[in-house]
Parts: sequence; C-alpha cells; structure tokens
Amino acid sequence: MKTLFCFTVCLCTFTHAYCWGFFGHAQINHYAVYLLPTDMIVLFKPAQTFLEEHAADPDKRRYAVPEEGPRHYIDIDHYGAYPFPLLPHEWEKAVATYTEDSLKAHGIVPWHVQVMLARLTRSFRDLNYAEIMKNSAELGHYIADAHVPLHASSNHNGQLTQQQGIHGFWESRIPELLAASDFDFVVGKAVYLDDPGSFIWDRVLESAHATDSVLSFEKALNDSFPAASKYAFEERNGKTVKQYSSAYTLAYNQKLQGMVERRMRQSIFAVASFWYTAWVDAGQPDLRKLKEKNFSADEMSTFDWLNQLWQKGTGMLGRGEE
Ligand SMILES: [Zn+2]
Repeated sequence: MKTLFCFTVCLCTFTHAYCWGFFGHAQINHYAVYLLPTDMIVLFKPAQTFLEEHAADPDKRRYAVPEEGPRHYIDIDHYGAYPFPLLPHEWEKAVATYTEDSLKAHGIVPWHVQVMLARLTRSFRDLNYAEIMKNSAELGHYIADAHVPLHASSNHNGQLTQQQGIHGFWESRIPELLAASDFDFVVGKAVYLDDPGSFIWDRVLESAHATDSVLSFEKALNDSFPAASKYAFEERNGKTVKQYSSAYTLAYNQKLQGMVERRMRQSIFAVASFWYTAWVDAGQPDLRKLKEKNFSADEMSTFDWLNQLWQKGTGMLGRGEE
C-alpha cells in the first residue's frame, strides 16, 4: 500500500512540468557565466549558485500571479503560417493590430525578454546587486524558454495530437538523462547584441520552425517502438517515478539529431549575450565597486514565498505545460 501511495504521489509530481525543467534552467544560467568577460565574471562567478537556484523563479511565480504565465511562451501559429508575416514584432504595432489582451492571451515571451533586458540594464546603471542578480536569473529563464520549440506552439503539450507529455519529455527528460554525460556546453564568448529584439525574434521563429519535427518525430517513434517499453519506473531526483523510459528517450534524442543539446547551447550563448549587452548599455559600470552584495529581508521572504508556492505545487494559474 505504501509503495502504491509513493508511486501515486510520484506520478503526480511528474506531471508538474516546468519550462526546461528546473535542471535545464539551472544548467543554462550556470554555463552562461563562463561566456562573460572578466569585468563581469568578478561579480557573476561568486553568484553562480544564486543564478542556478533562481533560474526557475518565474515558473514558481506562475502559481500566484495571473500575468506571469503568458511571459513564458507565444502560440505563434495563432497568427497564421511560418514566418508569420502578419504579426508585427514591435510591441506597439502588435498592440495596434491585435490589442494587448489578445496578445497576452496567446503569450508574449519575445516582448517580455526585452522588458527584462531593460530592467537588467537599469539594475547595472544603479549598481544594485540584488536587482542585477534577480533580473539576470529571470532574464535567463525567459530567454531559455524562447528557445524551446513547444513554447512557440499552441499544441504546446501535444494535446491536439494525442502526444500529451511531450513538453516535459523534450525539455526535461532528455536533458536530465543526457546533459551530464553527452552534452557539450563549452560555447565560446558572449557578444554584444546590436538589436536584441530581432535576435530574440529569430530564436522564437527557429523554435516555431522546429515544432513540426519535435511532434512528428515523436509520433513516428511512438508508432514503431514497442508500446510496453515506452514508459518505465525509473529514478528521477532520487525518487522512483513512471516516466518515458531511458530507451525511448535515447531513441527520440537520436531522431532529433542533437536538437535539444543545440537549443541548450544556443540558450547559453543568448543568455550570456543578453547579460553582457545590458552591462554595456549601462555604460560598463565597474562591478568591482559593488560592496553590498546582500538581499534584503523583504527579498529573502519573497524567495521563501516562491518556494512555498512551488512546493505546494497546486493551481498553476493560466496555461500549464501538463
Ligand atoms: Zn518558463
């Protein structure tokens, strides 16, 4: 009975999917630090653990803040066919065409990345340590989300094609199984982005373009793979849970020909480049001058609150991934 209860609880836990999973987001923020120039590394390397631990704060906030959900995706197929020429990339023009309510109803990730970039730039200008770190961690999250194909599709969890679960399969299960052993996260150096808006839109369009492969490859695999071996009770984060079996995950990753690794690498490059761009646009302030490297009592209690929301894990507002 106890075993049955554990499996039931674990299965419920498994259905709580997060963008890139907590593991993926933490990895992306972690490796982005290494792409920064020395003048930034002095501040970011000692804060690497913070950037990892808070990489998923925006997902935790989705349990309490209704406006949070749409910041993580865009159902871009709502606007016609690739490359969606009817959808203006400039926020004001898009609002004029579709209204703000309608845009928010279908997701706003490419615009929210730019809002976060402006916030981070201001934090650097103010030399405000807590704001720099919080905004860096969260900007990293939204950029990484924009790189996930199913974050650019209304069929975000395969619910329209009987592929429920594919969201977490692509972005959590594959990296958790393969990142440590098979993925290469040495990516080079951050670059200054002359036009961050068009940069993030390009990534979103790549994501949208890849959606078809993400879905059709899994469908083909499902049709050819022995049904009894598709799922298995295997260990995840120290617990035994029912999930896509390792064999099925490896077969899917092979069909995708490195797409998940490639998108993680591109996320790492993009996150570092956005952090770097914010710092340059703020006038390259001397980060060695920062003496106060603390979070206020209010900020600490907000972090606690976010963790409590996540641990309760019920009632994600708006659209979930499960
Ligand atoms: Zn997210």
